[in-house]
Amino acid sequence: MTALSESDFAVELSGRTDVGTAREENEDAIGHERHGDGHVVVAVADGVSGNVGGATASSMAIASVLKSYREQPADRPTGKRLARAVQQANIDVYDFAVVVSDLWGMATTLTAVAVDQGELTAVHVGDSRLYLIRDGGISQLTKDHTVVAERVRMGLLSAQRARYHPDRSTLTRSLGRELIVGVDRFSRPMSQGDVLLVCSDGLYNVLDQAELASLTQGRSADAACQELIDTANRRGTPDNLSAAVIRLVGPTPPRAGRAGVLARLRALARPKAARRKMELGRATY
Ligand code: MN
Repeated sequence: MTALSESDFAVELSGRTDVGTAREENEDAIGHERHGDGHVVVAVADGVSGNVGGATASSMAIASVLKSYREQPADRPTGKRLARAVQQANIDVYDFAVVVSDLWGMATTLTAVAVDQGELTAVHVGDSRLYLIRDGGISQLTKDHTVVAERVRMGLLSAQRARYHPDRSTLTRSLGRELIVGVDRFSRPMSQGDVLLVCSDGLYNVLDQAELASLTQGRSADAACQELIDTANRRGTPDNLSAAVIRLVGPTPPRAGRAGVLARLRALARPKAARRKMELGRATY
């Protein structure tokens, strides 16, 4: 079992990855880095199994995304920084697989989250998930890049049937397989008390959303990760499992430009088409 943990006034975080009860090797990997007060980056990767190199791909992706983020100028906007970091991780995994022929075709999921002064930015490829737990409710912020999830989104399959579908882990996108990867990216403001959970499918396949929320809430980030992993293991998850938790324990800074009355009036005065374009521009799929 690998654990990491840090706390400070504004943001508390912890992460844990575990081999689970049925496998020989852990092909999940997690990592985190703190970039000053109230600025953290957390990443979870799940190496694609049934292929050689799953564990190499996931651990490389984590090391690469954190390194690239760290080495970029600190004044670069967080979203840009994180997007570049995930593309760099993709190139690193891809290049390594080209050089080491035994690893050809290795791939991984990657979900990386930065919280900077109360603003969340996430980049995401694959079927690990990011959840927001707020006021007792839980919502999944990422879309699963799986064949089954695409079918649910197209209305061809019910969410209930998708949950137990034999092909539910077949990915439509993964990191390291091609030189360019389509990455989902989005940002949103956070509030004091918000909890973010990033986890691999080994966890959410055996714990439903209500359980993910109840096991996480009211606990320190450390205790929540431990409880999530332990409960999933007691269920006998057949997969490796990972959980990373970020808790916004301190007050988030006021966002003048965003919530200000003047900014809101300006947004209202803007023509509808321009507003729509702005909304679309915020997320790239
Ligand atoms: Mn998995």
